[in-house]
Amino acid sequence: MRNSLLLVLFLIPAVACNDILASDLALIRAKIYPSPTEAPIEDGTILVHNGVITAIGPARRVHPPDFARAVTNINCQGMVVTAGFWNSHVHIFTAGLLHAETHSDIDLSSQLEQMLTRWGFTTVFDTASLLENTNNIRRRIARGGVRGPRIFTVGEPFYAKGGTPIYIRGFLQENRIALPELESPAQGVERVRQEIRDGADGIKIFAGSIEPGSVLIMPLEEARAIVTEAHREGKPVFAHPSNNEGIEIALNSGVDILAHTTPMSGTWTAQQVQRIKAANMALIPTLTLFEVEAKKFGESAEDSANDLRSASQQLKAYSDAKGQILFGTDVGYTDYYDTAEEFRLMSQAGLDFRQILATLTTNPASRFGYTAHSGRVAKDMDADLVVLAGDPAKDVTAFSRVAFTIRQGKIVFGKD
Ligand SMILES: [Zn+2]
Repeated sequence: MRNSLLLVLFLIPAVACNDILASDLALIRAKIYPSPTEAPIEDGTILVHNGVITAIGPARRVHPPDFARAVTNINCQGMVVTAGFWNSHVHIFTAGLLHAETHSDIDLSSQLEQMLTRWGFTTVFDTASLLENTNNIRRRIARGGVRGPRIFTVGEPFYAKGGTPIYIRGFLQENRIALPELESPAQGVERVRQEIRDGADGIKIFAGSIEPGSVLIMPLEEARAIVTEAHREGKPVFAHPSNNEGIEIALNSGVDILAHTTPMSGTWTAQQVQRIKAANMALIPTLTLFEVEAKKFGESAEDSANDLRSASQQLKAYSDAKGQILFGTDVGYTDYYDTAEEFRLMSQAGLDFRQILATLTTNPASRFGYTAHSGRVAKDMDADLVVLAGDPAKDVTAFSRVAFTIRQGKIVFGKD
């Protein structure tokens, strides 16, 4: 009896001590937004060990170890810490990333930094690339040679016959890349199985493809066959809708995520919004994309402003209907890496900073099944963190002013 009591008394402080000793990264003096719905912690401390958050709280309660072995301290005075960002619409498809076997680890790291980690992205969903090439990069990140985000991928996209989008044909030709077009629903099913066997985390269909003077719509039976097979394998399906007809194909085939808004079709009606919501779809606005494309293709300022107005209305209407919004920029198709404009446009459309934070963290974690590990700053969560040099509650473009990006407890981008 006496012995066991002594043992208990001895164990309690020993466990507490180990917790403190086991920190290999400490963020101190930070204003922390633990999640989009919680109050911020002023003068907060976050302790990290083995890639996981071991403690978070105000400095008076959580102390970084002052006598432990090698601890990296990041002084976050005047800065803000949030969970690592997700970008749910990127392409591992730039000249610097294609033919990965010919690029050094340093070159790949540099390209991924410029495009992704420098903007706070610790996880990205690649919504069309070459699966074998993207797998090469993912393997090198996992081995530690390449510094980069966690990458999920859909691999090669699914185009209907004649549905390779006009704006990508030149690029494919220049880079001698052939992407197949579908011959039949049965072939679609076979390709879904093959891609998932080869490591794809999702599937992407072009429900509507932009062609010269028209939008080519994927036959419904093809879309249905592909989506059904992907769901049978437990994988989400993204659709590039282009217009209202494309949205109908997505709705009627059971697609999970709209990869863009559809400014081409004008504003969405309340009934349309309700149908998309009832189908439990997520929406990726990609507002900057429409501005970038308008400039590239010489659209008039008036047409460009109309497109932005429609896309903004769709985003706001879907958000107001409690539809799920995922942050995404289409970077890798565009070379417009700076995220400030997307935040400005989302705010202008009517989303507040907490809603925008949700599109970057909790919404994608929930959509893709990672709520238990990712999306919030909390004990036992992955130590995927972003340190911002400004407070997004005061100015949403602060989400783009990234001082440090931390993935699994390691600094993958930082201004020392
Ligand atoms: Zn895209």
